[in-house]
Amino acid sequence: MAKIRKVRRIPKSETKVQYHFICPGCNCEHAFDDRWKFNQDFERPTISPSFLQKGSWNGKHKQVCHSFIKNGMIQFLGDCTHRLKGHTVALPENHFTSDYEVEPNEE
Ligand SMILES: [Zn+2]
Repeated sequence: MAKIRKVRRIPKSETKVQYHFICPGCNCEHAFDDRWKFNQDFERPTISPSFLQKGSWNGKHKQVCHSFIKNGMIQFLGDCTHRLKGHTVALPENHFTSDYEVEPNEE
């Protein structure tokens, strides 16, 4: 178990690797790829730059999740719309699974 999962986005047809982590603010996985700088530490990840997720329904209920991950901790910035806004918490273990997960040392 690790905090970051390394996955291929689409099996076979897509070779690009993505990394997934569970966001405790949104209670779902957020993903990033090699456009982010990742220290390759799956237990104490440091990733930059920040993550900014935005969603809306019917153009009304806007949701924002904006975070930094450093040393296995996730810091939520003040523009988040969820309950962890302004808090820094430990990044949880990523217990999600998928068929196309790859080993951390596999390219
Ligand atoms: Zn989030």
